[in-house]
Amino acid sequence: MKIVIKNGWVIEPSSGFSGKSDIGIENGVISSVGVNLDGDVSIDAEGMVVTPGFVDIHVHFREPGFESKETIASGARASAHGGVTSVVTMPNTMPPIDNAGMVELVVRRAQDLDGIHIYPAACATKGREGKELTEMADLLQSGAVAVTDDGNDIESSAVLRHVLEYAGMVGIPYLAHCEDEALSEGGAMNEGIASALLGIPGIPREAEETRIERNIRLAKLANAPIHIQHVTTKRGVEIIRQAKREGIFVTAETCPHYWMLTDSQIENYNSNMKMNPPLREKEDIQAIIEGLQDGTIDCIATDHAPHTRTEKNVPFQEAPFGIVGLETLLGCVIKGLVNPGYLSIEKAIQLLTKNPANIIKINAGTLGIGVPADITIFNLEEEWVVTEDYFFSKSSNSPFIGTKLCGKVKCTLCCGKVLYADKDILLPEGLSISPTFLCDRFLI
Ligand SMILES: [Zn+2]
Repeated sequence: MKIVIKNGWVIEPSSGFSGKSDIGIENGVISSVGVNLDGDVSIDAEGMVVTPGFVDIHVHFREPGFESKETIASGARASAHGGVTSVVTMPNTMPPIDNAGMVELVVRRAQDLDGIHIYPAACATKGREGKELTEMADLLQSGAVAVTDDGNDIESSAVLRHVLEYAGMVGIPYLAHCEDEALSEGGAMNEGIASALLGIPGIPREAEETRIERNIRLAKLANAPIHIQHVTTKRGVEIIRQAKREGIFVTAETCPHYWMLTDSQIENYNSNMKMNPPLREKEDIQAIIEGLQDGTIDCIATDHAPHTRTEKNVPFQEAPFGIVGLETLLGCVIKGLVNPGYLSIEKAIQLLTKNPANIIKINAGTLGIGVPADITIFNLEEEWVVTEDYFFSKSSNSPFIGTKLCGKVKCTLCCGKVLYADKDILLPEGLSISPTFLCDRFLI
């Protein structure tokens, strides 16, 4: 059966194309792109934007070990709801993903689900203890696309040097969570005027910045690439910019909350504003935006970190770090970056698709002929208010509940299968949402 997505405004970051076009899909791959295409069934995308499915290289799906927060299945449905068709799952599960068997477990669960592409990241050190290196060649062989001890930095510079050397030799990217934990210990939000006013212990920005600097220097020493996760501060952006100028092979990501919110917006000790690294200040937002504009920051990731209501419903200092992000990703990009004119829609889509795909070296983020038909269709202009019952994720720990965002995902296809379609998309006869993605949040 040939599916044609008709009359949409197609944005293809690989070729730079941005204009009205149809897209033909056969056997799960893109078979043609052009005007007036015919097919067996068609999806009308008139008035909508059609892009490659988004690629989020930083999510926590919590399985195995913390299935009350999220599972691979519920995380995948949340992804489809947010227009995300490829994710990299972090390995800080229980037990952690630090051997080939555990990587295979995630790969198998993802295959059984038959939905979005789920690429596991595996631990860089055994048990995430920062001491002994994992068998990265085996991990890569089993399907891991990156190594990281995300949630923690690697304390020992000597161990990190060896991690970088080995990862570089094996050809698997290292994703760096940059934090001096001796300096951040006990802190619950950014250290500054806002933390002083609220009487909450602070995390100084230097805890992140000194480690971005150290970790990049060690990558240079090891002559290996490094990817800096969740950059939040002005100085952090400057360090990365300088390193790129020096020719060090560093890439970086930031997350929507770091340009949408500041620490001064933490009100009523709302623990859905608590994440690590923490929300920073106005001038940091400015620097993050400039970093996205000039390519210092290569891509946008969500750091989707679900926690149950019970876990978050405690005093701010005791609440776990982390917020969900997959389902508000597009709304934050359009409202916070595109509508104010900081980024063109084309550049924003590049940061959500082609660039992250390149970092982890997967065949995604493009609408080229012959690639898997991973496609997101969205309304660029629709404003909507985030509500607690909006989320397909098992958790709804979002700081954006009650916030009006702009840009709404209407339909998500992965390998030509419809994984999400909202009421505005009339699916033709013969086309329906894949059974494992038919989603009523109360049934998950
Ligand atoms: Zn992290």
